[in-house]
Amino acid sequence: MKKFWRFGALIGSFCLMIGCTAEEEASHSEEEESPSTNEEESDEEDSANGIDIEESDEEAVTLESEDESEAEEVESEKDEPEYKYEVNDASSIVPIDEATSEVVLMTIDDAPEDYGHKMAETLAEEEIPAIFFINGHFIDDEEGEEQLKQIDELGFEIGNHTMTHRNLNDLSEEEQHEEIVDLNDKIEDITGERPRFFRAPFGENTEYSRSLMEEEEMISMNWTYGYDWEEEYLEEEALAEQMVETEHLSNGANLLMHDREWSYEALPAIVDGIEEKGYEFVDPDLIGSSEE
Ligand SMILES: [Zn+2]
Repeated sequence: MKKFWRFGALIGSFCLMIGCTAEEEASHSEEEESPSTNEEESDEEDSANGIDIEESDEEAVTLESEDESEAEEVESEKDEPEYKYEVNDASSIVPIDEATSEVVLMTIDDAPEDYGHKMAETLAEEEIPAIFFINGHFIDDEEGEEQLKQIDELGFEIGNHTMTHRNLNDLSEEEQHEEIVDLNDKIEDITGERPRFFRAPFGENTEYSRSLMEEEEMISMNWTYGYDWEEEYLEEEALAEQMVETEHLSNGANLLMHDREWSYEALPAIVDGIEEKGYEFVDPDLIGSSEE
């Protein structure tokens, strides 16, 4: 009996060791950026971008138990990062290995202005993970800083949406550096953590911003769909219905919402509706890169 317990403990600490190594490796791993280059759409104009999301086969889920122990052995040998998802070129969230593909990602942009921290509270109550994409001009005063801290302390991923929300194409390299890297510094000062995710204002990246993604080891993403800036959806019920019933809701969809009143109000109905359709909200902690 005692022996058995010891053996268990040994295995346990061994797994723990592997886990730690994998995690450490993950945080240093080279980031494969997912450029969202050819999208001319602006934040304010287009509802769906990256429409061609792959329909994943239902059978994938049943395959995962096959040769599990063998797969684990290979994994520990290769010392792979523990990430289960990555962001593809269409900004969809795709499984790296056997993780379920029926997931969507919730993202809240232009935060924290008036409703960001309230949206974080709602999501926390519903246990829905999300990325809050922060603009530097919203965390210039104590109130903004406090709201960012709140969102961070509720456990949400803090992403970089630039210092002042200008189109990067209109800026010099030096200005782009300030917009992106200075905001990383600023967020790190407040939360203690450097953002891993970036979303360009209006979905407009530049060659230089892409090179910064590599330098800063960040993942860039646009979005699959969002409606809360379109005239007919500036209201709770219409927005909730559209977010749930849109044909763009599919495996890996990257959902875009903003720090706005009607988005805040519609949030519970949106997450409930999407869960009822069989999707899980993916934890941004699981999103990385399968590349070394
Ligand atoms: Zn924005």
